[in-house]
Amino acid sequence: MISVDQAKQIILDHTTPLSAICKPLLSAVGHITTMDIFSPIDLPPFPQSSMDGYAFAFNDLSTCSSLEVKHKIAAGDTSTYRIQEGEAVRIFTGAPIPTGADTVVMQEKTELKSDQLFIMDNSLQLGSNYRHQGAEIQAHSLALPKGSRLTPPAIGFLASMGVEEVEVYRSPTMCILVTGDELTPQGQNLEYGKVYDSNSYTLIAAFKQAGIEEVTVSHIHDQLEQLTLALTDALSQYDVIVLTGGVSVGDYDYVTQAALESGVEPLYHKIKQKPGKPMYCGVKDHRLVFGLPGNPASALTCFYEYLEPALMKMMGQVSAIKILHAPITAAYKKPVGITHFLKAYYDGHHVKPLDAQESFRLNSFAHANALIVIGEEVTEVIEGMDVEVHILP
Ligand code: AMP
Ligand code: MG
Repeated sequence: MISVDQAKQIILDHTTPLSAICKPLLSAVGHITTMDIFSPIDLPPFPQSSMDGYAFAFNDLSTCSSLEVKHKIAAGDTSTYRIQEGEAVRIFTGAPIPTGADTVVMQEKTELKSDQLFIMDNSLQLGSNYRHQGAEIQAHSLALPKGSRLTPPAIGFLASMGVEEVEVYRSPTMCILVTGDELTPQGQNLEYGKVYDSNSYTLIAAFKQAGIEEVTVSHIHDQLEQLTLALTDALSQYDVIVLTGGVSVGDYDYVTQAALESGVEPLYHKIKQKPGKPMYCGVKDHRLVFGLPGNPASALTCFYEYLEPALMKMMGQVSAIKILHAPITAAYKKPVGITHFLKAYYDGHHVKPLDAQESFRLNSFAHANALIVIGEEVTEVIEGMDVEVHILP
């Protein structure tokens, strides 16, 4: 049996960022760019007014007491215009500033008498309310460096330059093999002795939250040949295969055996932790195989502690789980030699271990926003002591 830290290291050592893929801009939200992106155009593409008002040549104010208004330019006007000496043009926010004008006065600071404009703005300067062409970004200059996360503003920034596609790390293709003859798919009546499959839902939801949308799920009977066939097939198609259940030492636990028979090299089986002790990990041709315990809270804890960082690394990202230290609101005792993960609620100051920590229960997990980590060597924490907290995404 290995420690939590060893298990994490082994997984990360066997994980590398995946290849790049070209995606339409909106499909790339949350992904990481694999190359520098340069602006194809000046932004703004033309000198632009930042106010509703009047555009004119600042210098004319020294010779004219009023300016003549005879032309109007709205946002979106595509015609070009040149102003004459002593002229001001009615202009609106976002409209192209005509040639010859270098300043815009906001309409609230003016008075128009027939076609004569009087300006009453003491703070007005040469270039006021004038957005230069390329002021935001110039053509061919760096918009987003390689390794940038495509957040909503980053997507909008690229859209404003007319960028339609981006190269990002692709997401892993994933398959969940759900084992357990007691499991009933959603939508069917529960027979006596059966339970609903929740792990595939928990995991798909967790993958979606991590930005992985395409996940295949197969339900497999507790039977070695069937499981070996399913795993062999999955290994020919997917980057990551996650099995749930069947990884302990019961008579119907075939995961490690099926992995062996499918040619998977075992990296470890069993971690000194609670919950999730039986977790298995193996690799075949750079494809990772995770055997998660069937107990719902164990499976999800293993996801957060081991799979999430690995999946993120594959997509060029860092884990979305933030680590901090906070005072615990209750004392806790445990044996030496095993790490405990406690479902917890962090209120911004303190962290509270929740009731119902048993690994078959999701109730407390559903109300948790954090896991408390009580390290292998620790046997007791007292109320108010700082503990390690993993803030869940
Ligand atoms: P196992 O790891 O296969 O021994 O399963 C341990 C416990 O988890 C058993 O009580 C199973 O019924 C339960 N379990 C296994 N797989 C699932 C699943 N997909 N959804 C909900 N519970 C499960
Ligand atoms: Mg089982």
